[in-house]
Amino acid sequence: MQDIRWSTFWFLLLEIFLYFIVSSIFSQKFAVIFVLVTLILFIFIHIFWIYKLSKWVESPSLKNLPNGTGIWQNIFAKIYRTYRQQKKSQTQLTSTLDQFIQAAEAINDGIIGVNEENEILWSNKKAQRMLNINPKKDYNQPINYIFRNTALSNYLVKENYEEPISIHNPTNKLDIEIKATFFGESHKLITCRDLTSLNKIENLRKDFVSNFSHELKTPLTVISGFLETLEDRKTIDDKSKEIILLMSKQAHRMKKLIDDLLLLSNVESDYLHNRSEKIIMKDMFRKLKNEVSLIDQQQHKIIYSINSEINLYGSKSEVYSAFINLLTNAIRYTDKEGEISVSWNKINNDAIFQVIDKGIGIPEEHVNRITERFYRVDEDRSRESGGTGLGLSIVKNVMHQHQGEIRVASELNSGSSFKLIFPTERILFK
Ligand code: ADP
Repeated sequence: MQDIRWSTFWFLLLEIFLYFIVSSIFSQKFAVIFVLVTLILFIFIHIFWIYKLSKWVESPSLKNLPNGTGIWQNIFAKIYRTYRQQKKSQTQLTSTLDQFIQAAEAINDGIIGVNEENEILWSNKKAQRMLNINPKKDYNQPINYIFRNTALSNYLVKENYEEPISIHNPTNKLDIEIKATFFGESHKLITCRDLTSLNKIENLRKDFVSNFSHELKTPLTVISGFLETLEDRKTIDDKSKEIILLMSKQAHRMKKLIDDLLLLSNVESDYLHNRSEKIIMKDMFRKLKNEVSLIDQQQHKIIYSINSEINLYGSKSEVYSAFINLLTNAIRYTDKEGEISVSWNKINNDAIFQVIDKGIGIPEEHVNRITERFYRVDEDRSRESGGTGLGLSIVKNVMHQHQGEIRVASELNSGSSFKLIFPTERILFK
């Protein structure tokens, strides 16, 4: 494109040249008038096209862009090309954005984009319904002002997004699973999954197991009672006695299984539980040591390191059953010579109960699964030693109900370490 500076330069040069020509043909005065008139004409033409351009800028469109003359023809041609290019990118961007919005709406989950301050930037309709977000009023407001929930606020502040959290929306009575992920420079994507119907089914299942176990308990107690009476009879021959003993053993196992199932369903339920009793650890460990000495027929060497200044708020019976479960496992899965150490201490801000044994250990591929219901590394060994496969899932649920966690580390043939971590909020100092 021709440069406007060059065209002005050539024009002025032409004016000077014409000035000399005109003044040599006519007079100098006539030449000055001639130059002035052409200059005014030149300026007028530019002002005219500037006016046309300013008019076009007010409502730009490809259709009414002027053609221009001379240098202006080039300028308008360039504007035309740039404008058309921009329009094209804009159309592409709009269609990508449309596709994104359609995809976001098609997803089964709710999604919300928030910035560093957790202010809502955008959301799809499902998220708006789940968390009562009004896109007209609530955008650019922190999500925890719009949906007030302590668990959600803490989750967003702590920024530990490995695991999702579950919350309940009392307005629409929905159970919602929330998971956040970082994206872009400092933005977060929050996904919300409606768990209401899943939870309903899960609750039905839990109720069924709980009722079923409860119903089985009475007939089983009667059967066990009769079997015990039969065992004591002197008139029974050895073969029958052996059978009765076997039946008695199985009845005992069934009773243990039912007890564990009932305990698990109790621990899983949120209702009718006081999980903020004051637990005096000195008393709890005294009881624990007594029970351990009765259970441990092999008389392992058990070393205790207890800081009895650290007490807890929680459910006494649940915390006790978690501790005794870990100790019973350590005893069951450690040979007579193997040492077991038990500690209760405060590390950083958490209270930690730890059981370390030098027992059989757990193969690496099983470690992450042993807290699942009925998950056993060696089923026979578990059964032989009176296990039900429910112990660690009871422990995990107890910890969940106390906002804590269980951590397992183990090495095959070397031993295992089980840590129960209680958060600061649960600690009660004497
Ligand atoms: P169980 O009644 O079978 O012991 P748990 O839920 O208490 O059920 O434990 C699940 C499985 O984890 C056990 O079957 C066992 O294989 C493994 N396990 C638990 N504690 C230990 C331990 N201290 N040492 C080795 N393996 C263990």
